[in-house]
Amino acid sequence: MRDASLEHLKTLIATPSPSGFEQPVAHLYRNYVSEFADKVITDVMGNVSACINPQAAMRIMYAGHMDEIGFIVHFIDEDGFLFFNTIGGTDVATEIGQRVWVHGKERVQGVIGRKAIQTLKADESKQTPTLKDLWIDIGATSREQAEAVVKIGSPVTLQTEFAALLGSNATARAFDNKAGLFIGGEIVRRLAEEGGLHPDVGLYALGTVQEEIGSRGAQTAAFNLAPHTALAVDMGVAMDYPLARPEEQGRLDLGKGPGISQGPNTNPIVLDILLKAALEESIPYQLQAYGDKSPTDARLLQTNRSGVATGLLSVPLRYMHTPSEVLCLNDVEATIDLVCGYCRRIRPDTDFTPW
Ligand SMILES: [Zn+2]
Repeated sequence: MRDASLEHLKTLIATPSPSGFEQPVAHLYRNYVSEFADKVITDVMGNVSACINPQAAMRIMYAGHMDEIGFIVHFIDEDGFLFFNTIGGTDVATEIGQRVWVHGKERVQGVIGRKAIQTLKADESKQTPTLKDLWIDIGATSREQAEAVVKIGSPVTLQTEFAALLGSNATARAFDNKAGLFIGGEIVRRLAEEGGLHPDVGLYALGTVQEEIGSRGAQTAAFNLAPHTALAVDMGVAMDYPLARPEEQGRLDLGKGPGISQGPNTNPIVLDILLKAALEESIPYQLQAYGDKSPTDARLLQTNRSGVATGLLSVPLRYMHTPSEVLCLNDVEATIDLVCGYCRRIRPDTDFTPW
């Protein structure tokens, strides 16, 4: 990966964006794509769209959600401890003892506290804690002291940032889905610099908001844009670690390329074009099968207006929605190649009707 791109990915990860609080990351995405896109638009929901060939009648929508899971402060007690609920689905057991940033009137350090193990009753120590058992300690000794820097409604994010692991693997919080947003910026850059997009085909690479709480941004953006075809790129649950049972939901390994979803979430013509691009350009991929509705932006793209020819690509990710997600940067690169390959194969008259 070129150095400037890797630095951009690290910056996206270092910047907080819980659902509803995506503005700092939206700002970064806008700045990055404005160098390459013909047009960059931010809508009332906060979605950012980077477009190449805005005059074209054929429209491709790319969706990589900008938001991450997080927390929000909903009560401050008289001793200055903060109580909170989650933004999106978090794994509570992984949060105890984590350092957090509370994004209040200023950015404040905090830790997620719980009763000490020495004070847990026998039955308590066997149970998984719930959010009701946790609080955030910012070191304040009174509500007044806490309220000087934090307010009800302040968002909270985990502190863990990007770190390289062995090989091409890396760890961070919120690869889900800063990696998908990053891929959106890279496809705009690559298609602008290297060309290949048909002049009468328009690409709209969107950083969407609020995916983690129901793909609200993708829903409104797709309605506004009315694309003919759409690709959602999100993280896929890897099945290549100890105790993983691929029998339950299929195999997905780090380092073997993005998962390509097939089944009811995928338009068959989109699937054919994706597979053709992968084959012709020797891009690694893994087939995935999922029979229920997709828990990603793809679900709302597919059923937008009178229907959109949709595909879903999943970057394999270990330990999803924990402070230390792990992915392989080669899979991110392969996903960029595959999305570019798909876009270059769309023609103004491509018919997505499954006959
Ligand atoms: Zn996601």
